[in-house]
Amino acid sequence: MQIGILALQGAVREHARHIEICGHTPKLIKRIEDLDGIEGLVLPGGESTTMRRLMDLYGFTEVLRESDLPMYGTCAGLILLAENIVGYEEGHLNKMNITVERNSFGRQVDSFEADLDVLGIENHVNAIFIRAPHIVAVGDNVEVLSEVEGRIVAVRQDNHLGISFHPELTNDIKIMNYFIEEIIMKNAH
Ligand code: GLN
Repeated sequence: MQIGILALQGAVREHARHIEICGHTPKLIKRIEDLDGIEGLVLPGGESTTMRRLMDLYGFTEVLRESDLPMYGTCAGLILLAENIVGYEEGHLNKMNITVERNSFGRQVDSFEADLDVLGIENHVNAIFIRAPHIVAVGDNVEVLSEVEGRIVAVRQDNHLGISFHPELTNDIKIMNYFIEEIIMKNAH
């Protein structure tokens, strides 16, 4: 199965490696036409404002807003999926009924690592947080999968998965595997 990674900016190769380890084929998505043939789309970490500018420039914002592809966003990718962003007037792709706050784990502790319990996944997930957002509110149709320090850091809504941290920077492929097996395969469209 081909799984796309939005490859405009950010941690693209790391996700490609995880997709390969899971036994599937990563496809780097740089133009709208590249979306053909993929079964799901990963929105990587990076800088959400930069990604939004590039998504507008290449026409992705409109196309992805309309798309019913399963999507999995990490960190900046989570921000792209959210309907509401604290301090901003509008969301980017508006896929998930959640409110996120950017860079919300405090300046002095910009980065940290933790072992998390994630609903639906056996064993701890090794998580690296880098200037991470967290989810401050969720709608009724959103399932909270994990929290750290009382803050929501992993959510699922239908065929969308939003994660505050960076599974792709570790060797822990459990979240990618969850996206592929629990979301893409079970929601086969
Ligand atoms: N701070 C970034 C943003 O707000 C996200 C950081 C990341 O993706 N590692 O877009």
